[in-house]
Amino acid sequence: MQTDIDASIRNTPEGREVEAILRTCTHCGFCLTACPTYQLLGDELDSPRGRIYLIKQMLEGEPVTGKTQQHLDRCLTCRSCETTCPSGVQYGHLVDIGRGIIERKVGRSPMQSLQRAVLRSVLTSPGIFGGLLKMGQFMRPALPAALQRTVPPARNATAWPQAHHSRSMLVLDGCVQPALEPNINAAAARLLDKVGITLIRARNAGCCGAVSYHLNAQQEGLDHMRRNIDAWLPHLDQGAEAIVMTASGCGVTVKEYGHLLKHDPGYADKAARISAATRDISEVLLAEKVGLQKLLHNKDIPDAHCEKVAFHSPCTLQHGQKITGVIETLLASAGFELVPAPDRHLCCGSAGTYSILQSELSQLLLKNKVNALESGTPDMIATANIGCLMHLQGGATVPVRHWVELLDERVEHGSMEGR
Ligand code: SF4
Ligand code: SF4
Repeated sequence: MQTDIDASIRNTPEGREVEAILRTCTHCGFCLTACPTYQLLGDELDSPRGRIYLIKQMLEGEPVTGKTQQHLDRCLTCRSCETTCPSGVQYGHLVDIGRGIIERKVGRSPMQSLQRAVLRSVLTSPGIFGGLLKMGQFMRPALPAALQRTVPPARNATAWPQAHHSRSMLVLDGCVQPALEPNINAAAARLLDKVGITLIRARNAGCCGAVSYHLNAQQEGLDHMRRNIDAWLPHLDQGAEAIVMTASGCGVTVKEYGHLLKHDPGYADKAARISAATRDISEVLLAEKVGLQKLLHNKDIPDAHCEKVAFHSPCTLQHGQKITGVIETLLASAGFELVPAPDRHLCCGSAGTYSILQSELSQLLLKNKVNALESGTPDMIATANIGCLMHLQGGATVPVRHWVELLDERVEHGSMEGR
């Protein structure tokens, strides 16, 4: 695609990056059918190609309005279009930059700004989020049924293994996961303990930065990233082998620290090192599969009552991190029957804060995704990201679990425990 980027941005780092990305797009349109919002709305301006064109126009100095911003806001950043694109257009980076620029040009209404500031503050502070959740859970029995579905029941944390092995890895707790599903990281720690790896949580590590970054508070997001880098690097220096992610949404972001901080002279090298050391828990367990298989082999796995599983692969896993088929293989090797679901590439509508800021579209996507996942009559749905998990729980008629918990229960007990 030919470009004529406005002089005010052409020679900036983001101007150079955006121009390079725009020039890779051939305007072929293969990405349209992969785009969930184009499928729902049928408007080319709500498709990848349309949004790329809008960003190009803006960067070439054409006037932009709230309408342009709305088309970019409706994008889920699911990156399904990247998976489909034959030219390798890095749409995710492009839309991040485009959104940052349009935010500066068009701004937000006071109400939108307030809503976004509250989201950034609540979702990135485990203390505030956990306190509000506890209050909601306390009041849950008194709430109308429709509201009760929005407040998940309280979960008790299970035991973290005490053993110290010579091998260790770091794990990110994340912002909302410890309050909503405290067993996910405990299950990951138990699995790794059994293959001889101690999982440790670094003090001072916190939000991966994705929430602020994708709400266009990009400097705030980068500050979260720098804080995590400072928290994790000493552990890597002391021999921790990897930084393990149990939420694919955080994982995709930490794997991009190197890219996002590449122009920061104080952090570029450190960020690249952190990204290179980051692994989704499925990648770690796949690498340890010999030890894992021994554990599973020793189990007398009965005909479990709940063993038909539909796996929802989060966009941040399949499109963002390009990890496909690994979790399905691990679950199948543990004796679960994976039931197929159509339209695997489509987003469930969670997408960070999208389910709050674009609730109508999000609910349509949820309905379609639940219908697809439940079409094979599974006993349960498994996924790999806390955001998808909570969102799917809001529409599914069967339990929705993190796959690591299923594997942990299978290793611990040989069969599934009800919940
Ligand atoms: S983003 Fe890729 S698939 Fe879409 S129009 Fe451009 S080149 Fe074609
Ligand atoms: S990231 Fe997802 S929603 Fe956004 S343009 Fe690409 S396919 Fe469509």
